[in-house]
Amino acid sequence: MSRRLTATHIAYYHTCQRKLWLFANGIQMEHTSTIVAEGKLIGETSYSDRAEKYTEIEIDGIKIDYFDAENGVVHEVKKSAKMEHAHLAQIKYYIWKLTQMGLENITGVLEYPRLKKRQEVILTAKDIAEIQQWETAIEAMSATDNCPPVIQAKICQSCSYYDFCYTDETT
Ligand code: SF4
Repeated sequence: MSRRLTATHIAYYHTCQRKLWLFANGIQMEHTSTIVAEGKLIGETSYSDRAEKYTEIEIDGIKIDYFDAENGVVHEVKKSAKMEHAHLAQIKYYIWKLTQMGLENITGVLEYPRLKKRQEVILTAKDIAEIQQWETAIEAMSATDNCPPVIQAKICQSCSYYDFCYTDETT
């Protein structure tokens, strides 16, 4: 079975296997997350003054909020750098998807406006090989019948599935 992967699958794969499994199996709670809403607000308020420079694009199931088409740069705006490795994976996936579509010399910038931190991102041959491994692993994890266990990690506190995962413990 082959499913259409999105950058969300990629980010969750780098965050928590259970989160990936829940999302991949149609249990989606992200829209209720204030963290996500806040992240979107940070992007909108931080870049409202240069909105004309960026285009929001949707391709093959992925949505890129800030694409500088003139310079071929994907911008990803995040609130906290706690899950930086997942953010990097996500932006590299965007670059790879655009490259697959025939765009050349695409790069990325990962931005944390609240931390006044930014990181330039390029896609290497090693990254491309890794992305293909991620896709295979995501397919396999998503197709299992059993939901992976709760990870009991600090990140759970800000996860949109927190109530779902910890209901038994909080009631
Ligand atoms: S609350 Fe924790 S265990 Fe549950 S999906 Fe989120 S990160 Fe994973």
